[in-house]
Amino acid sequence: MAKKQLQTAIIHSDYQAPDGFGAFPVAIHHASTVLFKNVAAMRARNWQEKNSYTYGLHGTPTSFTLEARLAEIEGGQHCLLAPSGLAAITMVDLALLKSGDDVLLPDNVYNPNRDLGNWLARDFGITARYYDPLVGAGIVDLIQPNTRLIWTEAPGSVSMEMPDIPAICRAAHAKGVLVAIDNTWSAGLALRAFDLGVDIVMHALTKYQSGGSDILMGAVITRDAALNQRLQTAHMRLGFGVGMDDAYLVLRSLPTMKMRFEAHDAAARKIAAWLKQRPEISRVLHPAFADCPGHDIWKRDFTGAAGLFSVVFNDRYSEEQTDRFVDSLQLFKIGYSWGGANSLCVPYRIQSMRSNWQDKGILVRFNIGLEDPQDLIADIEQAFAVM
Ligand SMILES: *Cc1c(COP(=O)(O)O)cnc(C)c1O
Repeated sequence: MAKKQLQTAIIHSDYQAPDGFGAFPVAIHHASTVLFKNVAAMRARNWQEKNSYTYGLHGTPTSFTLEARLAEIEGGQHCLLAPSGLAAITMVDLALLKSGDDVLLPDNVYNPNRDLGNWLARDFGITARYYDPLVGAGIVDLIQPNTRLIWTEAPGSVSMEMPDIPAICRAAHAKGVLVAIDNTWSAGLALRAFDLGVDIVMHALTKYQSGGSDILMGAVITRDAALNQRLQTAHMRLGFGVGMDDAYLVLRSLPTMKMRFEAHDAAARKIAAWLKQRPEISRVLHPAFADCPGHDIWKRDFTGAAGLFSVVFNDRYSEEQTDRFVDSLQLFKIGYSWGGANSLCVPYRIQSMRSNWQDKGILVRFNIGLEDPQDLIADIEQAFAVM
């Protein structure tokens, strides 16, 4: 070939990096276009197979490595990344449900999952029905011939009831229905969901896998290849991909996840125990405490707990007072999401979120970060005094 013009040479450089570079971090491989050696190689590759690369949207070595590590943590075989936890939930629903089908969701499901169910029901000819998260084996009575999927969440969002996953799986499988779990709270560390019979594990990696309050990402993990292929088709149809810089940051956080999780757990239990003996608080909704519905199931199925729990204030306190409590906190910031180093606090109007909530006290959720727990307790104590 003739000598290249400068503009071409800038793009087609002949430089090749030497082989043999070694370092711990996984390289960040960005790509839209993936190159093929020749036409035959291009034709031989299939986006459905994870043994080769076809197009950046379907992954690069960076995202494939993250998927493999997440599958390993969870005890699964296959993993697909999505641009958020909610996108991962949507991928599961759109992969497994079609017009005429029915999906069952726990009454304490992550609220945007409920909104998705209601949207599918309103506009897509699917029925979405809600069950008591403590229904256990009684779920069998709710399963219809057109029921295709049962969502579980352990514990459920905000009110923290703990479902009997094995009982739900047995009833579902007896009728050929798939079970998915939103396993974000356990980070895949404190609950072996596949061993309890679950078919699909979903995570908001936004939480502990990221750990930095800076990433939005989700994952769907399975053991079954055929099931993974159905999910992968939805992943493709939806055009889901993740940024490789973000995938790298999650990879960078994973080695410390177990230690962070244990630190969040220990601090949260210490603070929850302190709250438990305070007159301002009527109930501590943390699965490790007997006040929490499903506490015995947590003891049976879990090896630890996250740093996320809720409390119900004594009903002599008005919403104005509990709002003042939250506003008076200094170390605890007000904001959604959780799983980072910073502690957070959010009040919820739980009565409007549940079909049958009896408690009159105001519910407040705490995310315990990685600050010193004594400082967090002192912060809560001064905010109680202002309230
Ligand atoms: C945060 C969260 C999600 C959604 O994750 P995003 O990445 O914020 O979309 C889903 N389920 C649970 C239990 C969560 O806490």
